[in-house]
Amino acid sequence: RQRELEGMRDLPAITTDGCRMNLRANIGLLSDIKVALANGAAGVGLYRTEFPYMARKSFPNRGEQFEIYKKILEGFSGFPVNIRTLDIGGDKGLPYFDYPKEDNPFMGWRSIRVSLDRQDIFRDQLAAVLMASVHGQASLMFPMVSGIDEIRQIKEIIGEVCLELHRAGIPYSQEMQLGIMIELPAAVQTAHILIHEVDYFSIGTNDLIQYTMAADRNNPKVKRYYDPFHPAVLHAIKRVVDVATAEEKPVSICGEMASIPIAAVLLLGMGITDFSLSAPAIPVIKQVIRKVSLETAREVAAHALSLESASSIHSYLEIITSELG
Ligand code: PEP
Ligand code: MG
Repeated sequence: RQRELEGMRDLPAITTDGCRMNLRANIGLLSDIKVALANGAAGVGLYRTEFPYMARKSFPNRGEQFEIYKKILEGFSGFPVNIRTLDIGGDKGLPYFDYPKEDNPFMGWRSIRVSLDRQDIFRDQLAAVLMASVHGQASLMFPMVSGIDEIRQIKEIIGEVCLELHRAGIPYSQEMQLGIMIELPAAVQTAHILIHEVDYFSIGTNDLIQYTMAADRNNPKVKRYYDPFHPAVLHAIKRVVDVATAEEKPVSICGEMASIPIAAVLLLGMGITDFSLSAPAIPVIKQVIRKVSLETAREVAAHALSLESASSIHSYLEIITSELG
């Protein structure tokens, strides 16, 4: 079985009726490049940039970040790399960052909120990504966005950073695509508005499930409520996919949910073609995709979405899992 999975690396991720999917990797460290490529990743769907920040004693400066991003882009030469800006707070701290104590860290000062309040840090990161963008196919993605005002503010800041680089004669890619993560119910509800401001969406199900279900993603006590197959979650994903598809913009999925084989079938059937996975899950999900037709996946998704409860969806998917083998 292991050998079968190893054999997957060079095969295309294509359904039995000929639809091609993009399977990319979620990465954090430079050492992940090798692992991702060995597992057949067609680039990076989510580069969690907080990892290089975590592994240090102080905030890396522009030049230090530039070196790291450049290495990542060169490591995936010929493939797209989707760089997500700093996503600290919640469960991810930085030893040298004086972080306020909060009652509800996941609902508190985290992620893009920190970046917009600490623009010194944000601008350094944006400048470093822009400087590195000439060394590969970089795109830039923003986590935990809740509305259009944040996107407009982000774009204004990017414009200023670009101007600064231009004035200093530092080259950067003019074509870098900008996307947002859909992780908040607020973003789901306003997806039809947000889509006009960005080039793509990436659905972060880890947080989207937590915020939709009001169930901490790390608390085993409420694991029962943290359910990727709850109708509220599935309908949220469907809505986001439909909005992006109608505008002919890419929508990918980068949460852990995509690594669950039957969830991958569902997501495929809902219209997702881009998956970003932890590297070891890539061959597993590729195998699933190569065994199913898009037509079947669509039927499975349509039926699952017609069911009323999480329990009935789970029972249905169990039957389908055994049928698909
Ligand atoms: C997510 O929330 O689904 C996600 C991919 O981001 P992270 O796990 O880094 O919060
Ligand atoms: Mg997240």
